[in-house]
Amino acid sequence: MKEIILIKNGELVLKGLNRNNFEDTLIRNIKKRLATCGRFEIKKAQSTIYITPLDEDFAFDEALNRIGKVFGIAGYCRACVCEKDMTDIISKSVPYLADTLNNARTFKVEAKRADKRFPLKSPEICMQLGGHLLENFSHLRVDVHNPDVTVTVEIRDYNAFIRANQIHGAGGLPVGTAGRASILISGGIDSPVAAWCMAKRGLELNAIHFASPPYTSLRAELKVKQLLEKVAAYSGTIRLAIVPFTEIQEEIAKNCPEDFFTLVMRRMMMRISEKLSRERNSLALITGESLGQVASQTLPALTVTDTVVNMPVLRPLIGMDKDEIVIISRKIDAFDISIQPYEDCCTVFTPKHPKTRPTIEQCEEAEKNLDIDGLIDKAIAATVYSFID
Ligand code: ATP
Ligand code: MG
Repeated sequence: MKEIILIKNGELVLKGLNRNNFEDTLIRNIKKRLATCGRFEIKKAQSTIYITPLDEDFAFDEALNRIGKVFGIAGYCRACVCEKDMTDIISKSVPYLADTLNNARTFKVEAKRADKRFPLKSPEICMQLGGHLLENFSHLRVDVHNPDVTVTVEIRDYNAFIRANQIHGAGGLPVGTAGRASILISGGIDSPVAAWCMAKRGLELNAIHFASPPYTSLRAELKVKQLLEKVAAYSGTIRLAIVPFTEIQEEIAKNCPEDFFTLVMRRMMMRISEKLSRERNSLALITGESLGQVASQTLPALTVTDTVVNMPVLRPLIGMDKDEIVIISRKIDAFDISIQPYEDCCTVFTPKHPKTRPTIEQCEEAEKNLDIDGLIDKAIAATVYSFID
């Protein structure tokens, strides 16, 4: 039996004139993601995308798994291809749906007649197929309101399709339709989740990681790459910049008052990130900060980190509790990596009494002995790039 994958667009159906653009981006993203599953043909019609495998050994299950991680998809399912003929539809439906219906107690049949020339009307299609399924699966009952399984018959231009329940897609908007932004990524729980949240709204991602060897190890960098791989399964390829941060931290430790260490460090991170972003067509910064979570995430602390940059700082986790963040972290399979012990540059030189109500003037005063521009230029010149997918 020939099987295909049907994909229903998500929110992008709302986008009016932009719709074609959104659909084309979605199709491009799907093609990229399925490139190593085997050869296939991809077509769109009426907010549905059809994927038809062209090889016997097309990796069908893996393809479904990857489609579940493409943003811009509301739902998807496998479907059996039939002739546009009730005899063929009925004879294929029993073997095709056997596994699904054997595990259900109630069902209903729905028909979608895109081809209005098909001789049977929708209620007749439902009655004929429903009756046949009841004869073959005697344990089943019909429930039109809340069935375990909805069997759908679609009558299209050239073929008919039979399918069971749709699987929920990843939702959101196709990556690339909202432009590009840079995630400041640590090895913690929050920043990979923040990256995922913004990719979900259509942003393509660059990533920036600050490393302070020998205070932080190569293992910490590896961890960041593993976390980004989990995000990239959803966002597509991420360009990672690893910025050497040791000298900056040592200079801060030498030249700034201790209670301002973290704030000055974060201001340096933001300045460097903005500069790297402007060089790489990235229009905003993303962080994993959540209001009040730690001393550097109070409103006054966020204010003094924001004032050093002239681009939006997106903080998708700002209103979330830790347990809400952990749910997403587990869902994207990042949690077990995030909780591995590691040193982050933030944990090196942590002040005993961090300032929780800093003012901009106090920060500027604390930074006055730092060669800010010199340190930034040196760090950017020694930045190392790689691609994560
Ligand atoms: P996370 O779980 O993401 O590490 P956190 O709650 O531990 O966040 P902080 O360590 O204060 O919070 O960091 C706040 C944000 O600053 C992080 O979410 C991340 O966006 C950014 N950040 C922290 N450390 C680094 C780093 N070494 N490189 C790049 N960005 C960082
Ligand atoms: Mg952290």
